[in-house]
Amino acid sequence: MSEHNSKHPSRPRKDPRNFLVTEGRHHRKRISRSQTAHDNAFDGSQKSSVKNEPQVKKVIVEQPDYYVVVVPDILDGALTRHDRDVIAVARSMVDDGYQDGQGAVLVVLFDEAETDLRALGADRVLYFTEPDHQGSSINTCAAVLNDLMGAENIACVLCPDSVGPAADIGRMLAAKRKTFVASGVCQVSGKKLRQRIANGRIEAERPIPDVMLLLEDVGELSSGCIYEARPYECQLSPEADNRVENLGNLSVDPNDIDITEAPFILSGGNGIADWQAFLDLGQNLGATIAGSRVVVDKGLIDRDRQVGASGKITSARCYIAMGISGAPQHMQGILDCEYVVAINTDAGCPMAERADLVVVGDASEIAQSLSDKITQQRGDHDDI
Ligand SMILES: Cc1cc2nc3c(=O)[nH]c(=O)nc-3n(C[C@H](O)[C@H](O)[C@H](O)COP(=O)(O)OP(=O)(O)OC[C@H]3O[C@@H](n4cnc5c(N)ncnc54)[C@H](O)[C@@H]3O)c2cc1C
Repeated sequence: MSEHNSKHPSRPRKDPRNFLVTEGRHHRKRISRSQTAHDNAFDGSQKSSVKNEPQVKKVIVEQPDYYVVVVPDILDGALTRHDRDVIAVARSMVDDGYQDGQGAVLVVLFDEAETDLRALGADRVLYFTEPDHQGSSINTCAAVLNDLMGAENIACVLCPDSVGPAADIGRMLAAKRKTFVASGVCQVSGKKLRQRIANGRIEAERPIPDVMLLLEDVGELSSGCIYEARPYECQLSPEADNRVENLGNLSVDPNDIDITEAPFILSGGNGIADWQAFLDLGQNLGATIAGSRVVVDKGLIDRDRQVGASGKITSARCYIAMGISGAPQHMQGILDCEYVVAINTDAGCPMAERADLVVVGDASEIAQSLSDKITQQRGDHDDI
């Protein structure tokens, strides 16, 4: 098993550990996860930084006149791609002078997130993630924001319009403030927004209200600056309001999730000789199983798990393609996937071209050795 780049020595390999931010539906822009330049930008050691390290402009806002607030969803301890899009919109509102005076982007975290918010455009971060507050109800989170709006000049609160908690918090906040919430927002320009209504068939233009729920891919991070993400100090102690209780996430069988919704997919193709090893790996990884049309036609998986033009379109955060060549009809089904891993004997196949990480080798052997590794690690963990 080896990571490939032999067939395309002139093309640099992509590093899947980097953050991805969409530029548009099918274009991606990478933001380095490396902290070096960012750290240097703030500790004053910029001049002595590593050779070829890009110079990063630092932005410090001492006393903002107003804030544009972002409430991210946070999934598995990190901001989602959608969350980052929303921060990018907040950033451009502030940079374009949404209100008179100096604005700042304030990100409010109701859950722990490991993501570095400085590169994403946050001037301030309010951490409402103390153990006392964990599992706070949607109502309590909305009450925090309501208090914040009473204490500061908050121009607008932005949330991703998704199935995550942030959209519910935004709607609850609007209800508390007896104000209008704009959902399905697909464009923000000046003091106006465009939103999709009537099941996306119509776009309407409106003034920006207190609370906006934004669709994915609306924002584009473009500044190349590094922001402070300074902890925001405030004394907020809203009354706990548990009329709507947060029961946390329910565990589900990954194979009960439709492949259009699944966040993590292990997909198999004609290159897999040992199908049982593939299925075992899916179970060990906790991934949703899918496949190419060839394996569906062979009767190895149900037709509703076929990815592609005549199957279903997935937008998984991680799509592992084992023994799949990457025919155009298949690729149409994975255009929106965030990270693609190709496992294939052919380092030059179209799937490898598309992938963020390519592992060259026999699919069945790799499936077996990954499963063995996971089982071994679980055993080690149980022994502790
Ligand atoms: C109208 C139309 C609609 C279609 N719709 C779809 C669709 O919705 N979805 C879809 O998937 N296809 C669709 N197809 C079929 C599509 O054109 C391809 O035939 C199909 O996607 C190929 O599937 P595959 O990659 O699994 O198989 P193959 O093309 O046979 O590729 C197998 C891959 O496995 C690799 N491999 C071989 N041995 C190993 C090994 N030991 N270990 C690891 N890798 C190995 C090979 O290098 C190769 O890349 C459609 C076709 C038509 C005409």
